[in-house]
Amino acid sequence: MPACAPPRERMTPAQDPGDASFDAVIVGGGAAGVLVAIRLLMREGGALRIAIVEPDTRLARGAAYSTTQPEHLLNVIASRMSAIAEDPGHFVRFLARNGQGTEAGLADVFAPRRDYARYLRHTLESLPGYDALVHLRERATDIERAEAGHVVHLASGARLRASHVVLALGNAARPLPAYLLHEGARVADSWDYTAVAGIEPGADVCILGSGLSMVDVALTLAHGGHHGRILVLSRHGLAPLPHAGPGAQHEGGIDDLLPLGVLPRWRRLRQRVAAAVAAGEPWQWSFDRLRPHGQALWRSLDDTQRRRFLRHAVRYWDIHRHRIAPQVAATLDGLRERCQLEIVPARLRALTADPVGGSCVHFRPRRTAREHMRHADWIVNATGVETNIDLRPDPLLQALRARGGILPGPQGIGLASSDCGYVIDTRGRPNPHLFVIGALRIGELWESIAIPELREQARQIANAMSGTDPTPPD
Ligand SMILES: Cc1cc2nc3c(=O)[nH]c(=O)nc-3n(C[C@H](O)[C@H](O)[C@H](O)COP(=O)(O)OP(=O)(O)OC[C@H]3O[C@@H](n4cnc5c(N)ncnc54)[C@H](O)[C@@H]3O)c2cc1C
Repeated sequence: MPACAPPRERMTPAQDPGDASFDAVIVGGGAAGVLVAIRLLMREGGALRIAIVEPDTRLARGAAYSTTQPEHLLNVIASRMSAIAEDPGHFVRFLARNGQGTEAGLADVFAPRRDYARYLRHTLESLPGYDALVHLRERATDIERAEAGHVVHLASGARLRASHVVLALGNAARPLPAYLLHEGARVADSWDYTAVAGIEPGADVCILGSGLSMVDVALTLAHGGHHGRILVLSRHGLAPLPHAGPGAQHEGGIDDLLPLGVLPRWRRLRQRVAAAVAAGEPWQWSFDRLRPHGQALWRSLDDTQRRRFLRHAVRYWDIHRHRIAPQVAATLDGLRERCQLEIVPARLRALTADPVGGSCVHFRPRRTAREHMRHADWIVNATGVETNIDLRPDPLLQALRARGGILPGPQGIGLASSDCGYVIDTRGRPNPHLFVIGALRIGELWESIAIPELREQARQIANAMSGTDPTPPD
């Protein structure tokens, strides 16, 4: 059986789906959903009836690319962000055609993220068959098995019959627990780019979380001429590290790392980095060489070692692996040097109402017993994403869970899926009509959110639906 041949299915009685009927319904029109649609059109042109169910009025934005702020840059250079793996220059040519520079000059540029959404839309819209693609500005609330496919229920009450459904739901931000908040607290979500841009320049801001979303918030504040204080609290106080300049990199092997547990693996990695640095290389290149092997590194760990990784190593891995553009790092450094931004490793204890307005932020710095308190006019939640599907407040996931259509993935993160992205139900059976792409595959693959992984998963899903090789668009 070929690796991605559909698993054998069991039929359930047909439901009455109403009139709308599609070969493929993609639920979620962020980057991943659009990459699936691109692959399907590349292969089938207008031969397939495709619908994307996405509440946003514009496709391809999602959490990452809906920002309109020019200072929010991709974390990866343009030559590595092509939507079409077999055509690495595809995104660079788009930027060049749009007057942003020459192809040679743009290859190593960290482009604004808003341009990436435009690029994905342009790629989709220029494919034969695009005119027949339907974008339903709706939320899917349930997916029910039916004969040879599914019925997708939408929030409006409409139903769609689909031969294949793809879950491209992306990430969900983790909300702040209600018990930490007080009435009247001014809290913004880090992905609410408009709310963050609206924070008054003189406000004291407390950002909870110190990862990439914190970086976005700090950049927006800096570009808006912010002069208030910015306090960043996170348990370890670790912030993303910068990329090194581009340079010659050779493919790196991982054979010596695979048999090792988390701790000896980390030690071996440190030795590799030290040797490379001694030979005059930036440390970043050692991690770049591991980049294509992220899934193999995760899959080689047993359950105990994966738990150890998630408990002890993930924060260190993240700041080395998910790096930021050098110019972004320079802006952050500037804020820190001016003592305007302070990152404190600490645990948030509570937010209480400040009698003068705003909040009192109560926190306990790491390895201390004493609680500290600071004033903040605004709290920005940048605590990251919810990886436990049972804690995501999404009616669709809850309905699928109640039906036994999905189950949590390894280590309780994401949902269970087979190698080619077929969703696995509670009886452990891959569903031949239901695929999943992206962040929800994190438990299986770990590396499953960035464009190189998404475009490969999109290709696999499109091929699994029929099994032919596509021709890249111009
Ligand atoms: C701030 C940020 C910066 C990033 N920068 C980069 C980068 O530079 N390079 C890189 O490779 N990756 C980057 N990433 C990783 C990024 O996650 C992926 O590149 C990509 O955006 C993920 O797309 P997605 O479609 O899987 O998820 P999302 O972008 O989250 O899109 C999911 C979509 O599904 C929709 N949806 C959810 N539930 C339903 C439902 N029930 N019904 C209908 N629609 C639904 C949502 O409305 C949303 O539009 C970044 C991520 C973030 C958050």
